[in-house]
Parts: sequence; C-alpha cells; structure tokens
Amino acid sequence: MRQWTWREHPLGAVIPEAATADHYETGGWRSLRPVLDREKCIDCFFCFIYCPDSSVMVQEDKMTGFKLQHCKGCGICAHECPKEAITMINEAEAKGLETCAADNKDGA
Ligand code: SF4
Ligand code: SF4
Repeated sequence: MRQWTWREHPLGAVIPEAATADHYETGGWRSLRPVLDREKCIDCFFCFIYCPDSSVMVQEDKMTGFKLQHCKGCGICAHECPKEAITMINEAEAKGLETCAADNKDGA
C-alpha cells in the first residue's frame, strides 16, 4: 500500500481511504502501556468494547492481553475496567522490564 504523508493530506485532515488504521503501527508513539492482571479480570470485555483501536485481544472467551503494535496507550480500557484489572505503566519502564527479562532468560 502506498504510504500517505502529512504533505499529501487535503486541508481539514480528511482521511482519503477507509480502513487505513491497520497499516500504521500507532503503538510506536505510545507513552503508557496497559498491563493486565489476570487474577482480577472477570472477562466482561468492557475493555474490548471501549478500545478505540481494537487492541484488546480475546481468545476462547478470555481477555488475553493487548496488541501493542496498535495500542496507543490512551488508558480508556483501564478507566472502563470494573475490576481495576488493567494498570497503565510508563512505556520506558515497560521496555526496561522487557530488557531485564531478555537478559535473564537463561536464569542468570
Ligand atoms: S490503552 Fe487505549 S488503545 Fe491501548 S488497549 Fe487500552 S483502550 Fe485500547
Ligand atoms: S474490562 Fe477488566 S475485567 Fe473486563 S475483560 Fe477487560 S480487563 Fe477483564
């Protein structure tokens, strides 16, 4: 698919094609990351319904996490969760945790 840049958008920020969101990894500019506490989750799917980017994953009637490529970190899922099962954490902190996990993958 041809990439649109801001220079090609008509005035008024009209989106010229439908269903383009899937082609852009909006997660790239996320500053907060949602983290699920499975122990608290009751699989009510409020987060799935409210997420504006369809970034909540559901498998076999269970809420299983987030598609981080498209999650922009708005926090709506955390706000709407009736069980406070989603916490928004600093993205830089989350990346640090990933690095630590990778460093420790051999149990060192
Ligand atoms: S933080 Fe926003 S975009 Fe990300 S999963 Fe939650 S509601 Fe969706
Ligand atoms: S809104 Fe909260 S309790 Fe409901 S499925 Fe999402 S994380 Fe689980």
